[in-house]
Amino acid sequence: MLKKGLLVSALFLSGAFAAAADCSFDLKGTDAMTYTDAAGKPVPEIVVPASCADFTINMEHVGKMPKTAMGHNVVVAKSGDVKAITAAGVKAGVKGDYLPAGDAKIVAASKMVGGGEKTSVKVPVAKIKEGGYNFFCSFPGHEMKMNGKLTVK
Ligand code: ZN
Repeated sequence: MLKKGLLVSALFLSGAFAAAADCSFDLKGTDAMTYTDAAGKPVPEIVVPASCADFTINMEHVGKMPKTAMGHNVVVAKSGDVKAITAAGVKAGVKGDYLPAGDAKIVAASKMVGGGEKTSVKVPVAKIKEGGYNFFCSFPGHEMKMNGKLTVK
């Protein structure tokens, strides 16, 4: 009985870990105005498994600079809407996380963080299934370097 119980919990745990790994991605933000993966490499694209209901992008700001100088967030929107969102975001200022409030073009967005802080954003996969979506940082000027494709496969 004991042996069987242990086996069941082992299977349950491995299943839970596998699901968490498949439906999330760990991104890092740096003082060099870049996103990197856990290994410090650039992230031109994040592949989202179509089987996920929600996909979570976790972002850790591994730099030391404050939010006011080198803030980072993760925003998801259609590629063609990115420029309009960042332009409107400048007006919102750092208090508004450099994002236009209530803008329907924003599919999902995390809060803006500074060095040593973490944040995350949950993306409803059904909303991005058609393709052509990007993830980017809305801090003024950062989108030029901090911008990648979000592809559902
Ligand atoms: Zn940024």
